[in-house]
Formats: sequence, C-alpha cells, structure tokens
Amino acid sequence: MTSYRERKLWNETIEAMPREELRVLQLDRLKKQVSYNYQNSPYYRQKLEQIGARPEDIRSFDDFARVPVMTKDEHREAQEESIEKYGNPYALLACAPREAIVRINSTSGTTGTPTLYTLTQHDVNVVNEMHARKYWRAGIRPGDVMLQALSLSMFTGGLPLSQGIMHMGACVVPVGIEGGTKRVLDFVRLTSPVAMIATPSFGQHLIEKCPELIGKSAEALGLKWFFCAGEPGGGNPEVRKMLARGFGVKVFDHTGGGHAFHGISCDEPPEQFSGMHFVSEDHCLLELIDPNTKQSIEITDGAAGEMVFTFLDWEGGPFMRYALGDMLQVDTKHCACGMPGIRLKIIGRADDMLIVKGVNVYPDAIQSALLKFSPQVTGIFRILLDAPGPLVKPPLRIRLEFGQDVSENDLPSLEEKILSHIKEQVRVAPRLEWVPQGTIPREMKKTKFIEIVS
Ligand SMILES: [Zn+2]
Repeated sequence: MTSYRERKLWNETIEAMPREELRVLQLDRLKKQVSYNYQNSPYYRQKLEQIGARPEDIRSFDDFARVPVMTKDEHREAQEESIEKYGNPYALLACAPREAIVRINSTSGTTGTPTLYTLTQHDVNVVNEMHARKYWRAGIRPGDVMLQALSLSMFTGGLPLSQGIMHMGACVVPVGIEGGTKRVLDFVRLTSPVAMIATPSFGQHLIEKCPELIGKSAEALGLKWFFCAGEPGGGNPEVRKMLARGFGVKVFDHTGGGHAFHGISCDEPPEQFSGMHFVSEDHCLLELIDPNTKQSIEITDGAAGEMVFTFLDWEGGPFMRYALGDMLQVDTKHCACGMPGIRLKIIGRADDMLIVKGVNVYPDAIQSALLKFSPQVTGIFRILLDAPGPLVKPPLRIRLEFGQDVSENDLPSLEEKILSHIKEQVRVAPRLEWVPQGTIPREMKKTKFIEIVS
C-alpha cells in the first residue's frame, strides 16, 4: 500500500470522478441549491420570477441557463439595498441565518465598492478542501513551509488560502505584503519556506531587489515552488520563465480565494502553459456565455466565452449565475500532465474584447505576443481605436515602444517578426506605430490597453 504522501490527489473520489458521474452530482446539487436560494433569498427568488419559474421547473442545465445572470454591478446594488432595508450588506444575498455566517471576505475593490463574500463554517470547510486539492497536486506535503506574501486584509485570497494550507497539513507563514518587501525577506530567513505565494509582479520585484537587500540573488532564498495569484501573469510564458530563472523554482498559476471557483496549472516547464485544471466542479457549476448576447455556449473542447459560475452545496452567499466579466477558454482533452479535470485559460476581460474581421481579440493576448520580443520592445503598448469597441474597422492600430538599445534602422526587420508572430498567435494583421521607450504613460494601477483617439 502506498503511503498517503505518495497519493497524487488530495481527494481521489471527487477529483478523479468520471465526467458523466460528476455531471449527475452537479445537477442533483444544482436543483437543491436553486430551491434553497429561492426559499432563503428575496434576490434569487426574484431572479426565478423574472422567467416565471419556480425551483421545481429547473430540471436540467438547459432549464437553469434561462435564469438571468447576475453581474458585479447588480451584486453591489443588492448590497446597498440590503444596507438600506435591513441594516446589513448581505441580507438579500446570504441565504443562511445571520448567526451562521462566520466569515466575510471581499474582492480587492480596486474598481468601485468592494463586493462581499459571506461564508458559514460549512463553506469555510469547502474552501479549505479546495486549497488542499490545489497545493497537493502541485506536490506540497505536510512538513513543507509555505510563505504567503499576498494581501491578508479582507482579500478573498488572503486568510482563506492560509487556512487551506493548514487544512492539508502543510505549514503556512502568513506574512502578507502589508509589511513591505524587507519584512517578507526577513521571514524567509527566519522560517526557511520551500514555497512562496505572491503576485507575479511582487516576485519580479523580489528578484530585482534581493541583491541590494540581502546581498545575494533570489535563488539563494532556497525556494522550490512559486505560486502566482492575484493578477494575470502566471499563465504568461515570459513571466513564468522570469520567475523560474530568478528564483530557481517550479512556477504554478492558481486561482480561487474564499469562494467556490478554484484552479491550478500543471507541473510543466515555464515556457509552456496548458491552462489551469478546474478542481472545484463539485461545488462550482461553470457555464460559458457570449458576452454580447448572453446566450449559452456549450462547453466543448476549445470553447471560449464569458465565465458564469454557480456555487453548489453552499450556504452563506451562494452566487447563482454570477458573471464577473472574465473570458475563459476551455480545454477538455486529457492533459499530458496526467492530472484529471478540464482546463481553463483566462483569456481576457469581456469588456476589453475587440472584434476584428470576425476574430475576437483581447489586449492581454496582444501583450503576451509582444512580450516575446522583450527587451527589443518594452511591452508597453496601446490599442488605438477611432470609436469604442467591440467592432473595430481593420487594421487594428497598435502603438508600441521600442527598447533603448534598438535603433530606428532595426525597426523594419523587428516589425516583420512581430507581425508574423501576432498573426500566428492572435490571428489579426495589425498596423504598428513605433514610439521610443518612455513615450507611453505608465499607470500605477490597472493599465488600460485601449485608447480612443480621434
Ligand atoms: Zn495538466
């Protein structure tokens, strides 16, 4: 008998469940969840009433797909209405009695009022289980020390993730990033972690700062794993290579905080990225919709659309057909890494999507394509539009910066290579407009890649 440490999966029964069986489990849980939400939340009751349905009318996934989606703006409105009518922000959405709610997390709130996630102890246990599934797949085992250098304050990925690590029996050092870079490095020295969880940009910052702050390269920190979270980048081969080389680690991208949607990438070389394995399907029903028409898109291999999720077997704030605006592409083929579960790639934001000659184009994809040519290009660019998207009259105009060691004479041959790479990766033929390094304004917060010019 193999020792439990050699097991590949944390929860073999669920994670390796055949797809047909999993769908049966999902449908069973979905029916119960719809009925529970209907009984306990005026907000969700109204969602069903909008299509003239009662819970017993939802007998299939297709029936359920008729329920209108919930957007982040609606989530905020429901919070405000709850405060006005009931004196707390979650009365309309949280389906469990108030004394059963044991934790409130929130989104980072970088754009607008933070949106809240409310959990009962049952929900907290589910979240712990999902974190355990992810880190176990990546090879973490009891005895391994993991340093958590993400925001700890309210953020759904903060405290919940630390609890999940404890749940699987590994050791967490929840240092957070609020105390700054120096403090993170102090705790690396004091606790000798083998893994770090941080944003890719913080990772890059550490690699740059280590020689100055500790007199050694980041490789000397002794890390074996780097888990990317909190921002895109962990799926970008260039970013992955930078982290892998800088720290001398395996790089994993993962997603999921204090809620039901969780995924982790495969154990694979940094120059590759096959997406994240979806590990929480027993508690999260995923659907794809067309971002413009809101019509369902069938989840088949290669399908792409706006992600809509519904929490299953969830008590506190069980989101139902929640559309956060992320565009996903699904891969249902058996993965070369041997791990079960469909794979997902976040390909951009629904509101950033452009359509050029019938091809969907995401600024994130353009960025990935350009970064391949760094440092000959800085990677800073803007897509210039005459009018707001999504429809763009070709050619797609891209203003981009050439690196400081590039002369204007080099530009024609560089441009040829970039255009052919973009054509291959993004399937559009843009027109490039070159400017010197430092011309395009840098933004501290979220970079807007699209600029409307007249
Ligand atoms: Zn895989």
